[in-house]
Amino acid sequence: MPADPSGPPTASTSSSGDAVTPRDLKVKLSEQRLFIDWKDGKRSEYSLAELRRVCPCATCRTDREQQSANPLRILRADPTGIRVVNARLVGNYAIQFEWSDGHNTGIFDFRFLRSLANPH
Ligand SMILES: [Zn+2]
Repeated sequence: MPADPSGPPTASTSSSGDAVTPRDLKVKLSEQRLFIDWKDGKRSEYSLAELRRVCPCATCRTDREQQSANPLRILRADPTGIRVVNARLVGNYAIQFEWSDGHNTGIFDFRFLRSLANPH
């Protein structure tokens, strides 16, 4: 069962379930982009390089926290040189990417992706 801090969806809010449930997911490795058609009819598009910058795994979160606390930035790798080489679904709640530098612990759950794609 997924660790989900916001709790399971309740029966009273079925529309929010559709909003975080993909109907169709496409990863275009040639463009390094992710396309999601959501069940509520919205469509979102993501740059995989952007997703790497907000990677929710513990390693990347710690890196970002240390970087924001320290004015000296040591950039481990050129983010433009890192590509997604593979992707897979995790259960029915998330997508996991495998990057060309071997990093594969970032699990992007659909709530998180949907929150990144809020319309303005
Ligand atoms: Zn990460």
